[in-house]
This record gives sequence, C-alpha cells and structure tokens, in this order.
Amino acid sequence: MRLVWRASCLSIGMAICGNAAAADYLVRDRDAFPAAVARAKAGDTIRLADGEWKDFSILFEGAGRPGKPITLTAQTKGKVLLTGASSLRLAGTHLVVSGLIFRDGHAPGDEVISFRRDSRHVATHSRITELVVDRYNQKDRRREDRWVSLYGADNRVDHSWFAGKGNAGVTLAVIRPKGQSQANRHRIDHNYFGPRPPLGSNGGETIRIGTSEESLSDSASIVEENIFDRCDGEVEIVSIKSGANIIRNNLILQSQGSIVLRHGNGNLVERNVFLGKGKPHTGGVRVINARQTVRDNYMEGLAGTDFASALAIMNGVPGSAINRYHPVSQALVARNSFIDVARITLGAGADAERTAPPTESRLQDNIVTGANGDAPFAVEAGMKGIAFANNATSATVPDTLPAGFSQRPVMLRRAANGLLYPTNPALAKLGAPRDLKPVSMADVGPVWYEKLVSDVAFGSGRQIAVEGEGLVAAVARAKDGDVLRLPAGRHAIDAPLSITAALTFSGPRDAEIIFSAATLFALGEGGRLRIEGLTIRGDRAPGQPGNAVVRSSGHSTIANYAVEMEGSYFSGLNGAPDFDLIATTAATFADHISLDRVTVSGLSGKILAAAAETGGKGLYAAERISITNSRFDQIGSLADIVRGGTDESTFGPELVVRGNEVMQSGPALLTLSGVQSTLIEKNSFRQGGAIAIAHSVGAPVTRIVANRLIATPEPKITRLYPQGRPQVTMADNISGEKL
Ligand code: CA
Repeated sequence: MRLVWRASCLSIGMAICGNAAAADYLVRDRDAFPAAVARAKAGDTIRLADGEWKDFSILFEGAGRPGKPITLTAQTKGKVLLTGASSLRLAGTHLVVSGLIFRDGHAPGDEVISFRRDSRHVATHSRITELVVDRYNQKDRRREDRWVSLYGADNRVDHSWFAGKGNAGVTLAVIRPKGQSQANRHRIDHNYFGPRPPLGSNGGETIRIGTSEESLSDSASIVEENIFDRCDGEVEIVSIKSGANIIRNNLILQSQGSIVLRHGNGNLVERNVFLGKGKPHTGGVRVINARQTVRDNYMEGLAGTDFASALAIMNGVPGSAINRYHPVSQALVARNSFIDVARITLGAGADAERTAPPTESRLQDNIVTGANGDAPFAVEAGMKGIAFANNATSATVPDTLPAGFSQRPVMLRRAANGLLYPTNPALAKLGAPRDLKPVSMADVGPVWYEKLVSDVAFGSGRQIAVEGEGLVAAVARAKDGDVLRLPAGRHAIDAPLSITAALTFSGPRDAEIIFSAATLFALGEGGRLRIEGLTIRGDRAPGQPGNAVVRSSGHSTIANYAVEMEGSYFSGLNGAPDFDLIATTAATFADHISLDRVTVSGLSGKILAAAAETGGKGLYAAERISITNSRFDQIGSLADIVRGGTDESTFGPELVVRGNEVMQSGPALLTLSGVQSTLIEKNSFRQGGAIAIAHSVGAPVTRIVANRLIATPEPKITRLYPQGRPQVTMADNISGEKL
C-alpha cells in the first residue's frame, strides 16, 4: 500500500504520540484512499497528493468531534485537480474538506458534491471550504445536475468558488427530502458565485433552499456575505422554498433575476447590496407568502421590471395549492434604498388566478428614486392591505397608492462605502443604514483562485490578414477575439469552417466567399461569429434541402454562442429548398443574434430558423434577437421563433425587428410563439406573408408600430393559454395593396 503516514509530532517520535496525536496521511493514489479514510480519527488529516486525479469518486466518511474534525485537503491548496467524472460525497459528522478544484469534467451522477453517502447516511456539522467548481458541466446542456447538494443539518459551505455552470440544474441546493421537515441550519457564506449565463429554461437558479412540498416548515439556513456576480441563469438567483431562512450582507452584482421568497414563511432578507448598473432584468426581492421581512437593503441601478422589479410584492392565489402562490400577509418592507430603479411592482402577477392582494403588511421608511427620473411604481392590485408610512420618493406617486409616500426631491451623495445616501438631514433615518459594508472580492472564495472575467469581446485579439495561406488555414490558427481580414477577390470554400472561438470575418464588399458545402460556418463549443462588410454567395451549395450559411452545433454546447452580421451581402441562397441564413439547433443557446444593414437577395428558407426546440420545458434558441436596417428580397421567411412550455422562469426570447425592408416572402413572413418581448417597428413589408404571433404565459409584451404593410396581411395575435397578461400595442401601421 502506497500510503504515507506522517505524525504531526514527528520530532518526538511516532511511538510517543500514540493515540493523542493527530495523524496526517498523504495519499498518493486512489486505491490508498479508502484505507486512509477508514483509519482516520477525530483530529486527523488526509491529504491528496498534488496533481490531477481523474474519474475519482471520493467517499469521505467518518466521525470527527467538535473542535476535532477529520479533514480532507490538498497536499497544497489549489494544486489538486479533480477531473473527468470525479465527485465528492461526505457522510458522518464533523468533517472538513478544503483546497480541491473540480475542473475539466462533470458530475458522474446528479451531483458533484453531496453531503450524503446515500439516503440513510448524511453529513452533519460538516464543512466544505476553499473548494472550486469551475465550469464542471455535463456535455449536454439539457442534462440536469447540481454542483452542491446540502443534506443533513448544521453544515457549512464557505470561501468556495462556483462559476460557469452551463447545463441545467441549480448550482447549490439545500435538499429537504419529502417527510424530512426538520430544520437544517446550514450556513452558506463568503462564496464567490461567478457568472452563470442564461440557461434558456427553468433550472438555472444559483441557490435553492427546499422545494414546495416541505416549504411550510423551517430550514433556518443562512446565506450571508457571498458575492453573486452575473448570475443570469434564470429569473431566480436565490429561490427560497422553506421558512425562517436569513439572506443577509450579500453583494449581488449585475445579475439578471431576483432573490425570490417563492415558498415558505418567516424569511428575512436584510442588508444586501444589489448593484444592477442598468443591465436588463436585474432585480431585487420578490415577496410571496406570510411574514416575510425585507429590511435595510440597498439597491441601485436595477433595470428589472414586472417579477424582476427591485421590489415585487405578488398577488396570491386564494386557497393556493402548495406549489402555486400563497397570498402575501404580514410582510414588512422597511428602511430599504431603491435608487435609480426601473420598477417597484405591488400586487405583481394579478390575474384571473392570482386574485388575492397582500394583507396586514407594512411598507415604511424606504427611499425610492426612479431610473432616468421615470416613475417606477406599478400597482396591479388593491393596496388596502399594505400600510404605507414615512416613505420618501422623488418620483411621481400614482393615485392608486394610498398615503404614506411623501414626494420630494431626494439629493444623494456617494459615501465612503460606495453607496448613495440622501444629503437632506430630514431623510437621514430613511433607507438603507449608513454602516453597510458591501462584501469585496477579496472576502469571498479561496484567495488562491482568480475570479472570472467576461467573455472575450469580438475584435479584441489580433488582426490577421488572410493572404497566401487562404481562409481555411487562417481560421485554423485564429484565436479568441481575432479578426480575419479578407482581401478583395473570390474565396472558394468547399467544407464547413468550424468556429470554436470568438472570430470576426471582415472584408470589403468585393471580398466574396462562395461556398459549396451544406454549411459555411459551423459553430462548435466556444464559437461566436461576427461577419462585417463581406459578400457571401451560396450558388454552389448542394442541391438538397436544409443548407445554411451559419449553423449552431448539432451537439449540445455549453457556452452560449453569438452571431453578429453587419453591413454584409448574401445571395444565391435559393438554389435548393429550405436554405436558411442562420439555422439554430436544439440544445444550443445564443446569447444574442443580431443583423444590421444586411442585404439578402434570394433565400428559399428563413433568415433565422429558431424553432428546433420542441419540448414543453420552456427551452428556446436565443435570448436576444435583433434584425435592423436590413433589406431582404425574395426570401422564404424572416424568422420562426419558438419558446415552448408554460413556466415563468426566463426573460427571453426578446425580438427587435426595426427599419427593415422586405420585398416578397413566402406564405409565413414572421412566426413567433412564446416570445416574451417583441418590437416590430418602422418596417416596410411588401408582398409579405403572414405575421403570426402566439403569446404564452407570463407578461409578454408585443409592440407593432409604424410599419408599412403593402399587399401584406395584418398581423395576427393569439393566446396559447388563458393565463398570463399579454400587453399588445398596434399603432400607426399603414396597410394597403399599393403604397
Ligand atoms: Ca426557477
């Protein structure tokens, strides 16, 4: 057995140490690990030797004692890498695991780190600290797993690093199995929850505590002093589904979504700092259920509206089922600063089902200012059940709000802690307290692991002049951020160009790519594509259906991709049926797809085919889509976009179609189903086909404004479900046979 035993008191000899001394085992290979675990006693330490451990399923089981835990750690913190299908299970009591990195792999089962061996052996009084789980994703983004599952009670997760979860499933969950309603008292603190890109469906929460089934009992867990940095997975950043939890002193940075008190009663959200910096869909706190307290929080620059408002107090369902919406009662919202926020929504979600407004609640001593001086208040239900007192706002207060808001100028000055406070002494006791101290990056995660920076931007790399080597060779050596500059002349391409980095293809208009494969640009993992100023011709593509200029991967990719086309010319895309400009596939997801000043002459398929997702889980193809200032002549269709399902967990898809000219399309000009936000503005459609928009649940917004519809039918808007509150604007459109 290659197990090295070292006494911590080696200098006085092993024999003398006897049972009293803590042992320190260095384990050099997998086979030696179980013996070390079996031998370890309270106070002992097991170290994994530095290096890579592949496909290592760690079962760490033992009985430590208070103040004398059994510790599993790295020989050197940050030098032990768990890869492949590695995982960690803890079972027993008073166990500590530290210093390990999970990277370049994925969970072998449903969990990377689990505080249990199996359903009968959980961990209590145990801790993971200074662990890293870095982009440890399943190969298929739809495959669901969790990075950390907290079972048992009195466990702690601290100073750890979790970022880049790209597949479905909550990042860290407190699991409260059915029939096990006892308090958990877990503590989740000083962690770095780094970027989690939009998932494009439900299941992208960063933290969830409980599920609806056991939500009427208390978990009494604490989430404090963490940083949530760009946690954009879905509408819930933290989803509370149990009682008596405390969420305090966290910093939520530019994260789309909210802290949602989804199920369970008596939770406390206090002293958190939210900084949205105007990023869309950045939210604050959403209140549902009884006895929730939201106090002493600071929110600035939150651009979220509706459910993702800085404060959303929801309407409930009378006699609600456990998994729907219990009415708000006895809520206290006090001494919060809502600075430059887009929205405060009261009675949010009121509809035919959610008819019960808040009762016995108080909203007092808050400060509210609106973004861009706009009025942030939206009141969607009766407010008799909320007592408003001593709140100050510089914004217009709607008549639907009772007294309790004084409207007055609110001058603000930034204090030493970086936050804004009113200069007027009369307002000194309102809003968030002066002694807030936003958590700093240095306070969270392990000090030895760097925080994650943003995606590489288009054009941030080298400029590569495509000369004698040819385009294929240039693409092969290009790296993230590089720009491939094509010279004038013809570039014949006979096999798909595989794109696995953020690449820009740039040229003068007389640089012409003519391709003879079924796809010109094939996006793979990490691929992001920008085309500017080029001419692309498809005349030589195969005479079979289903060609595309750009196609997302046929296999699931984890990183969200992007496609940008600007000032480019496309032709000859009609020699075969169903020839698309951009074809998306199921199980890939685009952060954005944008076309600006693009000209397409002759295309038999769709400019954007984004309807490959067919399941009911609310999956869709792209978060933000914009088609602007472009000209399309004889095309099959502009776009076909589908988001299926009925849940309310995503912000997208969002579509902007503005300033385009379409001359002659097939029978379907634009087909949208389940799109959350649609703007069709200032277009000219001549001899176009049907514009069919089907609304799903939630609060979809559709605006069709100032278009010219020439020999083109009027848009048709329908509803797929009776729930939801679609907002439709159709104005200033002109239609006729000739204009
Ligand atoms: Ca959710």
